[in-house]
Amino acid sequence: MNVFVAGGAGYIGSHTVRLLLEAGHEVTVYDNLSEGHASSVPVARLVRGDLADLDTLTAAMRAKPYDAAMHFAANCYVGESVTEPQKYYVNNVSNALNLLRAMRAADVGKIVFSSTAATYGTPVATPITESHPQQPINPYGRTKLMFEQALADYSRAYGIGYAALRYFNAAGAAPDGTLGEDHDPETHLIPLVLYAAMGKRDQVSIFGTDYDTPDGTCVRDYIHIYDLAQAHILALEAMRPGDRRTYNLGNGSGYSVREVIDTAAKVTGREIPHNEAQRRPGDPAVLVASSEKIVRELGWKPRFPHLESIIETAWRWHREHPDGYGD
Ligand code: UDP
Repeated sequence: MNVFVAGGAGYIGSHTVRLLLEAGHEVTVYDNLSEGHASSVPVARLVRGDLADLDTLTAAMRAKPYDAAMHFAANCYVGESVTEPQKYYVNNVSNALNLLRAMRAADVGKIVFSSTAATYGTPVATPITESHPQQPINPYGRTKLMFEQALADYSRAYGIGYAALRYFNAAGAAPDGTLGEDHDPETHLIPLVLYAAMGKRDQVSIFGTDYDTPDGTCVRDYIHIYDLAQAHILALEAMRPGDRRTYNLGNGSGYSVREVIDTAAKVTGREIPHNEAQRRPGDPAVLVASSEKIVRELGWKPRFPHLESIIETAWRWHREHPDGYGD
């Protein structure tokens, strides 16, 4: 298939682009490089552009006969979404709708969308299945849910097919150490823990030790970036016009912040200096996925289901690239 990948130079996008190419698909990456890295994708496949720029976006999408789009070009920090909601509503909703407009203009009828566990809000049942109520508790989750709702309405009215993949916590790096996570500023737990192990940061803060969890710290379901990327390819290849699919993506096991720190200490053989800090606004205590639906319907099978192997790949990337992509 010929695939238009918005935000393909970011963390999840770049790993998905690599697996798309390995699976024999054609790929164009459309990215404004605000958070993405040009060197994380093959240079000939990169078109520099912004979702806000509808003319450039539409022209790029009309340049080739694309079979499908993937949408990774969103802001993704829960904490920032609480303090800067405008950024999230503009980019994750308004600019994202331009992608749907351009798809209609260019007659592209399928899309795989990066959604999130944050659309569920505080779980009323664990593990979370796709039919769990969606009541997000932060602006990030609300903007992602709004786009899911737009997809459903566009599908009913215009017949587009979509798969909304609700990610739990993406982590890890390409096993060969050539692609990985490089955010500026970095806010995610696993890279920050590894920065503390490397001495790139003095220490990592544990945000909240009084949650209703076994050790008082938040519990999350970490999924390896390659397993996440592979799910996009399965969803793309299975999609038919008019499909409305939603899939959770996690491993079904929860790890607390303290367990992540302990596992990272084991993997790296180093001490992880840490301190205890206040809760971060917008964080539910526990988020653990049931991914049985994608296993059953699409045969998804994670290659790196254990936290230790996820952290091992991340550690290789950070050790070999202490300055990330260096751009
Ligand atoms: N976290 C933490 N210290 C940090 C960063 C994150 O204790 O410096 C916690 C955070 O509160 C959450 C978990 O680690 O419970 C995962 O956070 P992350 O930002 O990696 O992903 P999110 O769950 O927001 O998608």
